Parts: sequence; structure tokens; C-alpha cells
Amino acid sequence: MLVSLVKWYQIFLIMLEGKLDMTYDYDLFVIGAGSGGLAASKRAASYGAKVAIAENDLVGGTCVIRGCVPKKLMVYGSHFPALFDHAAGYGWKVGEAQLDWEHFITTIDKEVRRLSQLHINFLEKAGVQLIPGRATLVDPHTVEVQTRHGASVQRQKVTADKILIAVGGRPIKPDLPGMEYAITSNEIFHLKEQPKHIAIIGSGYIGTEFASIMRGLGSEVTQIIRKDLILKGFDEDIRLEIQEGMINHGVRFIKNTLVEAVERVPEGLKLTLSGEHTEPIIADVFLVATGRSPNIEALNLENAGVDIVPSSIEGPGYSTMNAIAVNQYSQTSQPNIFAVGDVTDRINLTPVAIGEGRAFADSEFGNNRRVFSHEDVPTAVFSTPEAATVGMTETQARSQLGDDAVKTYRTRFRPLFHSLTGASEKTMMKLVVDGNTDKVLGAHMVGESAGEIIQGVAIAVKMGATKKDFDATVGIHPTSAEEFVTMR
Ligand SMILES: Cc1cc2nc3c(=O)[nH]c(=O)nc-3n(C[C@H](O)[C@H](O)[C@H](O)COP(=O)(O)OP(=O)(O)OC[C@H]3O[C@@H](n4cnc5c(N)ncnc54)[C@H](O)[C@@H]3O)c2cc1C
Repeated sequence: MLVSLVKWYQIFLIMLEGKLDMTYDYDLFVIGAGSGGLAASKRAASYGAKVAIAENDLVGGTCVIRGCVPKKLMVYGSHFPALFDHAAGYGWKVGEAQLDWEHFITTIDKEVRRLSQLHINFLEKAGVQLIPGRATLVDPHTVEVQTRHGASVQRQKVTADKILIAVGGRPIKPDLPGMEYAITSNEIFHLKEQPKHIAIIGSGYIGTEFASIMRGLGSEVTQIIRKDLILKGFDEDIRLEIQEGMINHGVRFIKNTLVEAVERVPEGLKLTLSGEHTEPIIADVFLVATGRSPNIEALNLENAGVDIVPSSIEGPGYSTMNAIAVNQYSQTSQPNIFAVGDVTDRINLTPVAIGEGRAFADSEFGNNRRVFSHEDVPTAVFSTPEAATVGMTETQARSQLGDDAVKTYRTRFRPLFHSLTGASEKTMMKLVVDGNTDKVLGAHMVGESAGEIIQGVAIAVKMGATKKDFDATVGIHPTSAEEFVTMR
């Protein structure tokens, strides 16, 4: 009896060993603790999955460390000088205001580090193991993480049933002489001194936002753009309104012009230009905000059979940018490897990376297979004036439905707040409507709190509200937002 029990025990051990051979260290290994990776790892762990996440920088990713959050804090800081001016219209006597740049930059940095620690705590609470270090793919189920300890590097191989790549992107500079003198959005958060004159290339939202921020803070700002209008892809009325508003706030635009080279001269940085404007510019800081590239180079994707696609970044020097190719479930060409967020270059926004990450985790670990919808994603440009938008632009609607089927409603007015400030600020709102079905296809706004207002409107647009539904909604008076339900 005893002999046969021992025999069975030995057989059991052999079977267990065989089983262990087929199992992995983790159910899910996530590369990158930014918006998408953090959301996906915590959601997967909530379903009982054994999850680890690798991060080779501060936990939080672009948004928390060098994107949305510190930028928005800078936006808030940049609004004060105008508010001090406006206060006078209401009878306030405000003394001379002065910005303590060092205090401004260091308190933002402190807040960023506090948030990073908070995200580490959230991971711990969720039961996700954080492995600091740079991860690369060894094969479809194996990842190597290199962790630096001073001068030495420790290498660790881990296996996982599924791998999620959420490594985001990074700013890139065009291939021009003197680009070593240029900074990107990564460095602007750590400038030791406030620039007297900052020159910016790039007409996307990042260049536009920093132009407004630096102008608001009191720097002289020159934004150099390749065409004649910023914010390609946004509704034309919005683009015009923001650019005009920024000019009103003192941003100088140099249009239809390219930067050819940068050199250091005794007065600062000299930018050689070509195109409509050829007179060189001297600035003390030069910000390049012309594009971002998915962080795929160091991942060794080829070891795991993960395919790439050309990314959408256009312009000189950007022709070789690639993103990870995924299907609607964020699955790559290797069925057990997935990718979310900026590394896939779909819609490069934090809530999208989070949404894709959660949809992946629900599908693969939560028994709830679902697709994240990339339709009607609202977005804001935190310029001064601020803008926000959801749904189709007028141009998109006209090209999809035909000119006769599109109705637009537009209003432009001076907000009540400015009736006493004397400022020439305007707010503009626009609805794009399908004339056949009455459905609101797009809502666009330039003006104070546009992001806050469009967030609410986006619910209606996403639900398929008609113009009649908007009209049937009672406004909140007196607000600017009520104009969205009173436009005729
Ligand atoms: C200046 C700026 C302002 C922005 N403002 C906004 C905004 O207002 N609203 C908005 O919605 N979006 C904004 N964005 C975009 C937003 O930050 C990104 O869309 C979002 O962070 C993408 O999330 P992600 O998870 O794909 O990547 P990320 O958040 O970039 O995270 C990727 C992480 O992976 C890590 N990593 C990379 N390679 C490896 C590796 N091999 N091993 C381990 N770790 C690795 C990186 O260090 C990083 O922490 C802004 C971006 C910038 C640059």
C-alpha cells in the first residue's frame, strides 16, 4: 500500500513538473507604465491575472511626467497675468506681479513626482508587480528586463502568457544642422530660466499650446509654421479663430516658412529660414514640436514576429517612422502580443490609451471581448484661447455626405465676463449637422473653458443626439455653454 502511494506521488510530481514547464512566470507582462500600460495592468490584475509591468523611467508615462499634467499646470500658471489685467475692469487694484520661474518649475516637478509615487501605490494596491528597467522581447513569450544599479546592469528574463506593449512615443527633431541646440517638449519643463524670446516650430497642438503658455508667462514668442494655418485636421473655423486669438495675445506667426539651420551666436540661437520669410530670427530658446515617433526601435520586435506599419508623421526627416500594427482588439501579428496607446499611432491621447488598455484587459482576462471605439473622441487644445472639439469637422461632413446634406450653425460673441474687462476676447461655437437625419455630427468651440464644455456636449454627440434634442435642452443662464442649445 505504502509503495503504491509513493509511486502515485512520484507520478503526480512528474505531471506537475511537466505542467510547470508549460506555464509562465506571469499571465500578463506589460512593457511601459504610462497611461495605457497602467490602466491595462490594473484592470487585468482585478480579474485575478498575475501581472508584472516594466518601466525604465518614472512611473506615469508621458502624460503624467512630461505631457498633459505638467503642461496643464503651466497653462494655469500662464493665465494669471491676463487675470490681473482683467481684475482692474472690476475695480481691483493689483500691484506689480512677477513670476518666480524657479518656484514655478520646481513646484510643478514636485507635483509630477508626487503623482508618479501615487501611481506606484496604485500598482501595489492592485497587486501588479513593478519591475524597474528597460524591457526587450526575446521571443513571443519571453522578455528581458535590464535594470541599472549605478554603473552595473542587471539582466532578468521573465516569461508571460500574454505581453502588452505600451511604450508610447517620444519627440523627434528633423534632420537639420544645429538641431543639438533645439529643445523638445521633454526639456521645456526643466528650463532653468524663463526664455526672453522662444522660437517654436510646429503647428500641431503641442507647439501651439507651448506658444500660448510661454506668451502668457511673458516671453516673446515666434511660432514658425510650414503652411499658413496651425492645427491641421481641426475644423477650419476653429483653426482660424485660435490663430487670430493667439495673434491678439501677442504670439508672432511666421507662415509658409521652414527652418533650415540653427547656429549659436553671441546673442543666442540664430535660425536660418526659407520660404515666405527669409530674414533670420534670433531667440534664446528654440522648441521643436514637429512630431513624435513610436518607441519601437529598442524592443527587438523581430524576435517575437511583431509587424510594424508606417506611422502618420509627415515632414522632412520623418519618413522612416513606424508604429506597431494592431487589429481592432489591439492584437499584433503575434497572437499573444498586444499593443496599445501611442506606440500604435491611432489617436495619440491619454484617454484613448487608457480606453484601449482597458478594452484589451476586459477582452483577454475579463471574459468580456470588446472593441474600444475610436469614433467621436473629444479633444482640446489648451492654447489661449482654448479650443475643444468632438466629431466631424465641416469639411469631413461635406466630403462624406455631400454639400447639400450638411447644415452648420455658428455663433461668435463676447463672453459676459469681458463686458467689464475691455478685452476683445471672443467665443466661437459651431455645430455640424446632418441635414437629412438632423443628427449632430460635430461640435466645436473656441473660448474660455472649451474643454470643460465640449466634454458634456460629447456625451450627446456620442449618443447620436439630433439638433432638435439640443434645441429641446434648457440652457443654464447666464453661461457661454447655453449657446450650444440656443443656436438657430
Ligand atoms: C507635451 C505633451 C502634452 C500632451 N498633452 C495631452 C493632453 O492634454 N491630453 C491628452 O489626452 N494627451 C496629451 N498628450 C498625449 C499623451 O501624453 C499620450 O497620448 C499618452 O501618454 C500615451 O500613453 P501611452 O501609454 O501610449 O504611452 P506613455 O504614456 O508615453 O507611456 C509609455 C511608457 O513606456 C516607457 N517605456 C518605453 N520603452 C520602454 C521599455 N523598452 N521598457 C520599459 N519601459 C519603457 C516610457 O518610459 C513611458 O513611461 C500629450 C503629450 C505630450 C508630449
